[in-house]
Amino acid sequence: MSRLFAFALLASLAYWFTEVPPHDIVPRKNVRVRLCPIRCCEAHPYETCSSDANKAFLAHLKAWGAMTDTLYIWHYNTDFAHYLMPFPDFAEFPAESPRCPVGGGATAFRCTSCR
Ligand SMILES: [Zn+2]
Repeated sequence: MSRLFAFALLASLAYWFTEVPPHDIVPRKNVRVRLCPIRCCEAHPYETCSSDANKAFLAHLKAWGAMTDTLYIWHYNTDFAHYLMPFPDFAEFPAESPRCPVGGGATAFRCTSCR
């Protein structure tokens, strides 16, 4: 795809079953990987949370960051069970979330919300 459309920037989502970085391929320069911490605990800063999902995300972030210069973070800050309720990430989000991925190699941080 990237050879056929070398003039375009292609986006590829990395979450759920694609969160784990591949071992045998590397994204080309015009592929933007968007890594999503969708399984992470959002109650605590990622680096200090004891959740296995957060530890795995940090390892995947580091691996993706070493693999590409166009790593973006796609962060859902929506309570999908109760759309009108605030997303319960007051201790985690605005202070720590963006800093962690940027330190891990991400170049952008995008929040997707219902509001
Ligand atoms: Zn936590």
